[in-house]
Amino acid sequence: MDIRIQVLTKQNSYLSQIMYEIRDKDLQTDRRRFRQNLERIGNLLAYEISKELGYISQEIPTQLGIAEVKVLEEQPLLVSILRAGIPLHNGFLNLFDKADNGFVSAYRHHTQGNEFTIKMDYMAVPSIEGRDVILIDPMIASGSSIVLCYKALRELGNPKSLYIAGVIGAEEGLNHVLSHIPQAKIYLADVDFELTARSYIVPGLGDAGDLAFGEK
Ligand code: URA
Repeated sequence: MDIRIQVLTKQNSYLSQIMYEIRDKDLQTDRRRFRQNLERIGNLLAYEISKELGYISQEIPTQLGIAEVKVLEEQPLLVSILRAGIPLHNGFLNLFDKADNGFVSAYRHHTQGNEFTIKMDYMAVPSIEGRDVILIDPMIASGSSIVLCYKALRELGNPKSLYIAGVIGAEEGLNHVLSHIPQAKIYLADVDFELTARSYIVPGLGDAGDLAFGEK
């Protein structure tokens, strides 16, 4: 696997239990549990990415003396792709509670057969100039939404660093993302190796947006 991709389930942790719950076709029908599990995965991805950010030392008074602590140098900018990104975004906010936030809509517009284009209608994002940007999309299948969103974001500036966070990535989509955004560092809970003709991840988990919020 490319060194720019970190896959958290490669190491044993409770994350594997959460992945079982969101992938299992019976357990995943509990919408509240599915959303909560995406949020919990967001917590864990955020924690891993937090290790990469810049910190500065600071002396602060405690009740009993002076402690040297480290604080984040700058707050990251969290940008999520609607709508499946919402629960994962909340997980990131549990950790990065002072982060700035942006939202982008991206959805598939099926043209004919299995062909589709990605439509972006909505973008509410502050300047990304000089920021640590974390782009959040639960399912990186073909990778087209991420690439399109990143191109739109670049019109708002040049980030200091770019992290991409997802629950499951398909190898093909990850290669597509890295060929267009080589500087990206990708953090995933898990990787799968196949896509259906309609670009759904196999074995994947299904449509994350529908499972979290109901069918469109
Ligand atoms: N989006 C999803 O929700 N699931 C997939 O498998 C691919 C894209």
